[in-house]
Amino acid sequence: SISHFPSQSLTKTMALNISSSDSQTTRKEEINLSSSDLLPDLIYEALVWSSLHGLVVGDKSIQRSGTVPGVGLVHAPFALLPMSFPKGLWRQACELAPIFNELVDRVSLDGKFLQESLSRTKKVDAFTARLLDIHSKMLEMNKTEDIRLGLHRSDYMLDSETGLLYQIELNTISSSFPGLSCLVGDLHRNLLSHHGKHLGLDSRRVPGNMAVSRFAEALAKAWKEYNNPSAVVLVVVQPEERNMYDQHWLCAVLREMHDVATIRKTLSEIDAEGQVLPNGSLVIGGQAVAVVYFRAGYSPNDYPSESEWRARLMMEQSVAIKCPSISYHLVGTKKIQQELAKPNVLERFLENKDDIAKLQKSFAGLWSLDNSDIVESAMERPELYVLKPQREGGGNNIYGDDVRETLIKLKNEGGDDYAAYILMQRIFPKAALAYLVRDGICHQDNAISELGVYGAYLRNKDNVIMNDQCGYLMRTKVSSSNEGGVAAGFAVLDSIYLT
Ligand code: ADP
Ligand code: MG
Ligand code: MG
Repeated sequence: SISHFPSQSLTKTMALNISSSDSQTTRKEEINLSSSDLLPDLIYEALVWSSLHGLVVGDKSIQRSGTVPGVGLVHAPFALLPMSFPKGLWRQACELAPIFNELVDRVSLDGKFLQESLSRTKKVDAFTARLLDIHSKMLEMNKTEDIRLGLHRSDYMLDSETGLLYQIELNTISSSFPGLSCLVGDLHRNLLSHHGKHLGLDSRRVPGNMAVSRFAEALAKAWKEYNNPSAVVLVVVQPEERNMYDQHWLCAVLREMHDVATIRKTLSEIDAEGQVLPNGSLVIGGQAVAVVYFRAGYSPNDYPSESEWRARLMMEQSVAIKCPSISYHLVGTKKIQQELAKPNVLERFLENKDDIAKLQKSFAGLWSLDNSDIVESAMERPELYVLKPQREGGGNNIYGDDVRETLIKLKNEGGDDYAAYILMQRIFPKAALAYLVRDGICHQDNAISELGVYGAYLRNKDNVIMNDQCGYLMRTKVSSSNEGGVAAGFAVLDSIYLT
């Protein structure tokens, strides 16, 4: 059985507060609030707090909620209480952030490595091929990016069998929830500051989360390096975005703390209104752009026509700072993750042996489908693997029996389509009882969590201006669900309780 909360005193305190009629079915180490008077109060307070503090998203059931701010808001899905997490592993994940930042930067400079590693994927995956085409054009132009900004999020799961922390993936484009993740931590600290005594929990054990201010700081510093006081930050957005408040939080901090203005445009608007001047600067509707911050453009759905691809290419050709550049974007693909996990590859990009060892320790098993032994093994025991295409945003991976079926299909077809995928060892985190609140309704279920650690990297030529861990995102989902996206509807936002 699993310890959701560590505290011995908890069980004691809970016994006082809960008329524990179902004590026989409740495992001792877990908080069970289901028979507690406190539960409805906690939920109610959490819902009020979320509404008052902007822990909100657009409500799917209201059509204009994805386009008009202030219309059709609903609280973001959240876990009622923070998920316990070992302090040592938390520190480990934080320590990895600047190393991964550095790695992304180094790999991004090796255009040949990116092109070669993705060459077979390119043949069978039209989306990756388009990204690589833009990348090739930049290589042909000898385009250099002197100022490079990365706003990354490296995601991890804690493997229950080994007790080790494994990286799930590294996001280099559109790393979401720097805004709302901070608020969930605030919500949890607020609830614990009022009810912690009864719950046997200490609000100080929920670590502070500065993701939104640190990301804003990184954007502001990049904007400053660009050195045009009248230029703006361009936020590239999807035409409909129900997670707009997460983005608005970042833009609000950028304006209030750094006096930097942002404009929001879709790729098709950028195509219609944008141009690159002869000196290379990017101008949108007469506005000079210092930094392009992508919160769209990571999925084939973001490019319904040639217009969107024209916009992407135009921005890449400009001297505006791209977050991410096409190279940074490609470094974040699953195929590159798998290539970097091969023996002796990290050594090509990093010198520090300790850093290399730390990264390698966080790599789970990753294989290309050329590896016939692994493919064989995955067909026999598909539940031990995840089959991943080159996609972002959740909901794209293949699990369980579908892994076997897909592998059989790929084998029978005998073509190159297998190069669109990688295989990854499936990680099994311990499940723990959690209270997941969505749409004002609380569901109690066994849940597993994924920890994301934000990292910001900014350099101008040889000068590294920022290379930091920048806060965290915890996401919790029912253990029976394979996928983990919050926006995709699988998971809820959470914070951590250090044990
Ligand atoms: P995306 O870029 O779409 O977010 P991910 O690699 O993060 O792709 O996979 C999506 C979700 O699938 C993750 O949030 C996680 O819940 C689950 N997942 C991915 N890889 C693994 C794995 N190796 N073991 C267990 N679950 C995984
Ligand atoms: Mg991703
Ligand atoms: Mg992910």
